[in-house]
Amino acid sequence: MKSDFFSVKELVCKHVYDRYGEGAAMFLDDKLIATLNTIREKILCAPMTVNNWHLGGSFTQRGLRCNLCALVKSKTDIGRLYLSAHLLGKAVDCNVEGMTAEEARRRIIEAQELLPHPIRLEDGVSWLHIDVYNNGKGKKVYRFKA
Ligand SMILES: [Zn+2]
Ligand SMILES: [Zn+2]
Repeated sequence: MKSDFFSVKELVCKHVYDRYGEGAAMFLDDKLIATLNTIREKILCAPMTVNNWHLGGSFTQRGLRCNLCALVKSKTDIGRLYLSAHLLGKAVDCNVEGMTAEEARRRIIEAQELLPHPIRLEDGVSWLHIDVYNNGKGKKVYRFKA
């Protein structure tokens, strides 16, 4: 599934993009892309930044993460289970232009009937984490703490 708003580069780590290029789109869940498109176009209506490594920035692990990504390796190295939705192409972290993450979460919750799929939002963090794991609560939006 393609997005008019988000490039593949922005949604995967550099490790994955270097190996698969645009083909890395296959690792991204269609439900995530549909959700991001709706949030960007119909709910927040503002630019959202996920990774920016391709623009010279330092963010590389805000979309799909692979086993070579530092965040993932750090968990593996100490023997910890790590099943983040970022590993399965089902999550992004982002900043939204002109609003705080908390304000973005509030707006998404207010407009939740527009969402094409149930989502989870991470609570209490300064970035907007959105994922499409089944929240199991029968709710359109489920807030969780990592
Ligand atoms: Zn990686
Ligand atoms: Zn996240």
